[in-house]
Amino acid sequence: MYITPVIISQTQFINGKIGISKSLTLLFHLKIDIGPSWHNTLVFCWKINGGVLFKRLMETWDFDVICVGAGGAGVTAALSAAKAGARVAILSKEPIGYGDTRISKGVMAYAGLSQGDSPEEFYRDLLEGGEHLNDGELTKTISRETVLAVLTVEGFGHIFRRDEEGRISGKVLSPAGGHRFPRGLSSPSEGVSIGNALRAAITRAGIALFEETMTVKLYSEGGRIHGALALRLLSGDAVFFRAPSVVLATGGPAGSITLTPIACKAPQAMDLAWPTRQGLSL
Ligand SMILES: Cc1cc2nc3c(=O)[nH]c(=O)nc-3n(C[C@H](O)[C@H](O)[C@H](O)COP(=O)(O)OP(=O)(O)OC[C@H]3O[C@@H](n4cnc5c(N)ncnc54)[C@H](O)[C@@H]3O)c2cc1C
Repeated sequence: MYITPVIISQTQFINGKIGISKSLTLLFHLKIDIGPSWHNTLVFCWKINGGVLFKRLMETWDFDVICVGAGGAGVTAALSAAKAGARVAILSKEPIGYGDTRISKGVMAYAGLSQGDSPEEFYRDLLEGGEHLNDGELTKTISRETVLAVLTVEGFGHIFRRDEEGRISGKVLSPAGGHRFPRGLSSPSEGVSIGNALRAAITRAGIALFEETMTVKLYSEGGRIHGALALRLLSGDAVFFRAPSVVLATGGPAGSITLTPIACKAPQAMDLAWPTRQGLSL
């Protein structure tokens, strides 16, 4: 049996300064070894709110797959898992479909439509843009699947720019972003429309949605992450999620490095930090 205390206090930026709320949550993760699975876990929660102490067994949920993050990556992963028959939950500290996805320009690369262009040419551009440090297989997959990615997002309900015949053609592609061929397929309503489509798609799929729910700690065993401790931001309550598969899709480090107002509060590079902190490989 072991106990892991976790202290959560809610912080927020007020007029550029960090404010700490009066609510303080102390969590004790109690593991009782009565079987091989770490599912024999009880989590108790002591919460001090406005000077009053509450204690109770924490709300706990079991799923096959948990997706942490509900931008383009998390929603796509959750929908794929649900399509394969898994019981899926998606957690996001913001509303579903927010994150950088919603504030983006909504431009996606579409390779192979301009004269002389092909997925192989796109692969070359990606390698050069990445100073040949890219993961080879991942880069090949990205360059091969641009059309599939665009069709997937359109399948959620978003519409990319069309020519006068209502088609995606070379006429609507722009040569932005260091590409040697025009590949930039823009969105008339930018990322907001993609975010709305993600939200609609996931609602239709019957996936358990936990919005305004921030993951604060992950639990691993045998080199895999199996659980997430999260804080409901509106109530301050802690929730415990257990699943054999946890997908981390909390956004990249791009926006968080500079903390500029344009970078929304979503990305924290936690996808990289969390597993590394626990000695897990990326
Ligand atoms: C201003 C701007 C313009 C851009 N324009 C383009 C463009 O035109 N074309 C392009 O290809 N790319 C563009 N990008 C980059 C692109 O938007 C991102 O690469 C992409 O949206 C990342 O998607 P994601 O799902 O990985 O992350 P995000 O969309 O950032 O989603 C992260 C999710 O994780 C959640 N989250 C984070 N931490 C936690 C936590 N602890 N617990 C629970 N949930 C958490 C967030 O709430 C959110 O739901 C742009 C980025 C910015 C900032």
